[in-house]
This record gives sequence, C-alpha cells and structure tokens, in this order.
Amino acid sequence: MFSSRRKALLAAAFAGLLLSAPVPGALAAQPAEVAAQDAAIYTIDGTDTASRTEMHRLGAEILGVRGGTAQVQATRAQAEELRSRGYRLTEKSSLDEELGKINGSRGKAAPGDFPPGDEAYHNYDEMNAALDGAVAEHPDIASKSSIGKSFEGRDIPVVKISDNAGADEDEPEVLFNCNQHAREHLTNEMCLRVVERFTSGYGSDAGVTDMVDNREIWVIPMVNPDGSTYDIASGQYQGWRKNRQGTGTDLNRNWGHKWGCCGGSSGDPNSETYRGTEPWSAPETAAMRDFVNSRVVGGAQQIKAAIDFHTYSELVLWPFGHTTDDVTEGMTQQEYDRFERVGTAMADSNGYTPQQSSDLYVTDGDSLDWMWGQHKILAFTLEMYPASGGGLDGFYPPGDVIDRETARNDGAVDILLREAGA
Ligand SMILES: [Zn+2]
Repeated sequence: MFSSRRKALLAAAFAGLLLSAPVPGALAAQPAEVAAQDAAIYTIDGTDTASRTEMHRLGAEILGVRGGTAQVQATRAQAEELRSRGYRLTEKSSLDEELGKINGSRGKAAPGDFPPGDEAYHNYDEMNAALDGAVAEHPDIASKSSIGKSFEGRDIPVVKISDNAGADEDEPEVLFNCNQHAREHLTNEMCLRVVERFTSGYGSDAGVTDMVDNREIWVIPMVNPDGSTYDIASGQYQGWRKNRQGTGTDLNRNWGHKWGCCGGSSGDPNSETYRGTEPWSAPETAAMRDFVNSRVVGGAQQIKAAIDFHTYSELVLWPFGHTTDDVTEGMTQQEYDRFERVGTAMADSNGYTPQQSSDLYVTDGDSLDWMWGQHKILAFTLEMYPASGGGLDGFYPPGDVIDRETARNDGAVDILLREAGA
C-alpha cells in the first residue's frame, strides 16, 4: 500500500511520461529515494523480547527500549504490516520531520563536514589524519595499515598498538572496532580515544604501559566509511545506518555465523536491517572476516577478546544474539558465566546495563555471534550514550559529549584487555 505522498509522486512521474515532457533529473531519481525515506518513528508500548523479535523480523528497526516501550523506525508499508498483526503503533514523526528537527537545531556545514556544534567529530579524512598523527608520533608502538576496501573503494584502516609494533609477538591480541553503523559517529570517536590513550600514555601511565608491553591491540575506527561519509555528505545528517551497496546492507546482519537463520534480520532490501544477498556480500564485512581470520597463527586465533562499539542505549551485550537460550550449541554454562561476569564488571565500570544480546531482540548475522561462534573470541557489543532517546536524535549527541562519553569506557576497555590474558 502506498502513502498518499508516495502516490502523488508516482502520479507526477507518470504524468511526466504521458506528456513526454522532459523529466527533471531530480524527479526521475526521486522514487527510489522516496521509498527509502518514506519512513517514520513509532512508539509501541508493552513490548517483550518475542514481540520485538517479530517486529525486527518484519523489517522494523528497534532504536531503543525502556521499560517495554520501544521506539522503532519503519517504512509505512512495514508499519501497516505490523498493525495488521495487532501491534499498536503511535506515529511520533516522519523520518523527514525527525531529521528536520535534528538538522534545524544545528544549521548546515560545508559538504562532507559535521554540522556546527559537532565539529569535534572526525569525518573519514580527519580520522585518517588522526591515526597518521598517532603513528608518526609513536612509530615504535603504533603502525597503520588497511584491512581492505569498502564498496565505494575507501580503505578501511586498522592501527596496531604494541611494543615492537612491527613484530608479531606472542602476546594476547585484542580488537576494538567501531562505526559498523554509519550514523553512530560517537563510536568512531571511541576508537580514536583508544588509539590516543594507548599511544600518548605509553611510558607515563603505568596501566597503559603494561598493556602496550603485554598485548597487541588492534583498532578499526570506521568499519563503514562509505555510510559514515554519506551520512554527512550534504553537511547535514541523513540518519543513514547501512553501507552504500545498492539500497544498503546492514553490515551487522551480514556476518557468516548462522546468517539469516532465526528471524533476526530482514530480507527486504529497503529494511534498515537488510541482511544482504548472502553472508559476506558486503565488502566491509568480508574485509573484517579476512582480517580476523588472518590472526589465526599456527592454528590458534591470536585475538582473545573484542568490543564492537555501537550507539545507543548504554548496554553491554554478549552472545548469542540468534537465540534467547543462554546455553546452546557453542556456548557452555561455564563460557556463558564468564561472559556474564566480565560483562557485568564492565557495566559496573561505566554504568551501562549488562545483558545477553538477544534479551533485546533476536539478531542473526551479527559480528558478536561470528566472533564467538567461529573463533571463540570473548566478544562484546557496547551500545554507548545516550541511555534513551526520542528516536534518531539519540544517534546525534552534540560534539561536547565526546570526551565525557568516550572516557566513560576507559575502565571497560581496561577490563577487557586484562581479561584477554586470563
Ligand atoms: Zn549499531
């Protein structure tokens, strides 16, 4: 079913064809754009894991949940489908209105830059410059390379931090990666903080020095450089989540462990949680897979622990996402208990809420499940600040929260680095 707005646009395009009038390029390009943008933010009360999982399976994206009340982003067609199944959705605002509010409160930047007030965030070039600067200042303990290219051909940089960074020493390795989801810009800042802290603090901060001497730390600040770049390409926010392949693939539903198994992703290319045509169909997830696989040395995975940073909701999540069972194939009670213990310790340090990933809703094809399911990496997802939001605004906290909200996770990062040696 089409919304009246969509109908009007289709009618206009059709009229253009009938009259053989020259169709302006903007109008000709509009239907696909409109389809992607013909969405709204809805509030749904009284949800639980099962109902959120069904909504998610039908293509709605759960933005946040507080006390059973869920904020979801869905197209009008998806909303219609949910209503036909008995869900009571209250429309809060259209996606365009929501973005209008967020952008209206800031004003417009030059193309490719963050809007006024958010200049402290790093775009792709600034992120690369920050990494290059850290490596130039600390060449003995930091090196930069690329894990591969994005769909649009951007390198996905990785920084290694360790004493003798040029050598592959026999030390536990830990991976921090950020910005799988384009609009979650605060996570890129989180990874940049890890790089800054473990390079500039070396030799002066005893805890940092100990970890740099006895671990190999990998940091991948921007897994989705195309999406992140697109989100600010106009100098205003687009609310973009996926990569830039076709209508976009949700990278965190495209990983190969039990991909698409369990109703935890969408097969609809217009969904925010579209899983892609097959596992690893996104070049960005394939690059991540190849990198992590490359750390198997002599038959043993060197990466012992990992955090995949996201926003928002202030949660510490552990596997599995594809099932609500705690203990299942590939997860013993003892292993689960370790996740719960470490996850709870991290949450105690930053004030987040610790839980199994599927407590929120079932997801399949995410990084967490693959890291543990395939490689037995002690992998967590941290959903950063804020704890709750009205919808998309939660993805766009002002630049002046960056220092506070990234420093807030120093303790969790340190806990994981220590645990990697256990
Ligand atoms: Zn995310």
